[in-house]
Amino acid sequence: MEATEKALVLKVGRFREADAWVRLLTASRGVFTAFAFGGFRSRRRFLGCLDPLNLVLFTIGTDRKGAYQQLAEGSLLNGFKELKADSALLGQAANCIKFVEAIEPGQEDGRAVFDLLLETLETLERKRPAGDLFPILFRAKAAFELGFTPDLSRCTGCGTSLDETIRVTFSVENGQIACGACKSPEKPVDGLARQVSVGTLRTLDWIMRSGPSDWVGLGMAGEVRRQVFELVELFIAYHLGLQWEGGNYKKV
Ligand SMILES: [Zn+2]
Repeated sequence: MEATEKALVLKVGRFREADAWVRLLTASRGVFTAFAFGGFRSRRRFLGCLDPLNLVLFTIGTDRKGAYQQLAEGSLLNGFKELKADSALLGQAANCIKFVEAIEPGQEDGRAVFDLLLETLETLERKRPAGDLFPILFRAKAAFELGFTPDLSRCTGCGTSLDETIRVTFSVENGQIACGACKSPEKPVDGLARQVSVGTLRTLDWIMRSGPSDWVGLGMAGEVRRQVFELVELFIAYHLGLQWEGGNYKKV
């Protein structure tokens, strides 16, 4: 049975002379691999489609035994040409794609991650944001989309809302927040935790509620930037078991 679906191409490889394997992300399947037999020979069936960072409408089927997915044909919807021509933007896009490959969303999370990655690529290309924040914002937002949605506006212990003047402790392990009155040597915060500013929590809360098109023009500096980067990396290592190392995510 064949189905037609929009896919983002994450990676393409060659095997035998003219055949391709393609790592794809779609809304209904998440990340998976499919084969395009004769893909590098057939100009008609896959014209301009078999490159990373393409949005393609693929007709996807299975082989006769149902053992693997194969691509029957594709038509290119967006090749993100202007994005690929700018090395700074391309670097940020490639980082987001590596993260998607590492988290390997399945059917359940396919829709959320597909929509997030597509909007990210479209925003990078159309709005050409300055700075280098998109990868970290993407990782944080993806983590929120995968189901981690702590209440970052109040102390988990006493419910008091947080104001800028106090420092609080954030538990990476369970997303709980403790104000100074709730955190004491007798009542330690569970597991891996960091002292953070309320500004950092407000920034994370905003990332959770916003999307890539809202991120253009966002600046993040000093202590807030340092804490946001640290918390996002700690969270991803702790909950998703991934660490950025030597240009790739490694399982930790
Ligand atoms: Zn409290």
